[in-house]
Amino acid sequence: AAKKKGNNSFQFYCKEMDDEAHEMLVLENDLYNALKNNEFTLHYQPKISLTSGDVIGAEALARWQHPVKGLIPPKEFIPLAEQTGLIIPLGKWILKKACGYAGRLQKIENLHLKISVNISVAQLREPGFLDLISDALDETGLQPSQLELEITESIAMEDDEEIISTLKKIRNLGVCLAIDDFGTGFSSLTRLKNLPITILKIDRTFVTEVAVNTKDSAIIEAIVLVAQKLGIDVVAEGIETKEQKQVLSPIGCGIGQGFLFSRPLPENDFLDFVTRRTGPPHPPEGCRNFQGHRPS
Ligand code: C2E
Ligand code: MG
Ligand code: MG
Ligand code: MG
Repeated sequence: AAKKKGNNSFQFYCKEMDDEAHEMLVLENDLYNALKNNEFTLHYQPKISLTSGDVIGAEALARWQHPVKGLIPPKEFIPLAEQTGLIIPLGKWILKKACGYAGRLQKIENLHLKISVNISVAQLREPGFLDLISDALDETGLQPSQLELEITESIAMEDDEEIISTLKKIRNLGVCLAIDDFGTGFSSLTRLKNLPITILKIDRTFVTEVAVNTKDSAIIEAIVLVAQKLGIDVVAEGIETKEQKQVLSPIGCGIGQGFLFSRPLPENDFLDFVTRRTGPPHPPEGCRNFQGHRPS
């Protein structure tokens, strides 16, 4: 039997359906309304220069404030949004929101930071995606090099001409491109030379053991060496301890992100963090062609 549940969404009940599947259906229904009900929000995790200690940017991370279930993490709703196609309008909202925040930090606080946004493969396949990026930059006054799009290693390694061509067009706009969660497919390092990539984000699994397992530090060191030769910057994600930071910095990993510095923060807390942490203005790092600076 199907029970009408507002709008045109139906809820199907069936005895055999296990709880988990049922739960997913309920969540999917809720997801459709979440965007128009303004239930999504972004948290910002600082990116730190491991050489100067400065905040050079932030990664925008999506959160869903569910009216009943509370805060739902992205690992639970992003896959659902990808399966249902909702990732297209949601991804658009996320990109505009993140650029809007970075633009306001620049105009109001005189902070020239780089903003990183996670992108799903469906967004790259969407014909209007390049226009969306251009619009987001125009509307917010951000330089293209102040925007960084993070795509997962699996997307980047897909042998898909359409995707690679889109990535090249994005790069031609001057926007930075990062490979997220990098390192799980080490053999694919050679493919990097054909990709218009500016940043590699080393997966947290390598960072976790880097201070105690010499194999992990060797892998990171090798990644950094290849990246440097290709003109690619390296970011370590998931730094949780001082020991990890102290191993990463000397082997050439220039930028770090992780709970050691800060968890992802709501807008106001992020601004507090930057204000407390960053003293006199420095030119930002992170994208080699980044020409931004903080005017005095
Ligand atoms: P990611 O892009 O690799 O983001 C890093 C994740 O690691 C974040 O989880 C962050 O909170 C977490 N993290 C950061 N530092 C540490 C640390 O020191 N220790 C530990 N244990 N974790 C740390 P979060 O926010 O739950 O996001 C999970 C994933 O969801 C992201 O992984 C990304 O793949 C996806 N995601 C988040 N927001 C978006 C979005 O707006 N669009 C898309 N397509 N995916 C998103
Ligand atoms: Mg990411
Ligand atoms: Mg990551
Ligand atoms: Mg990760």
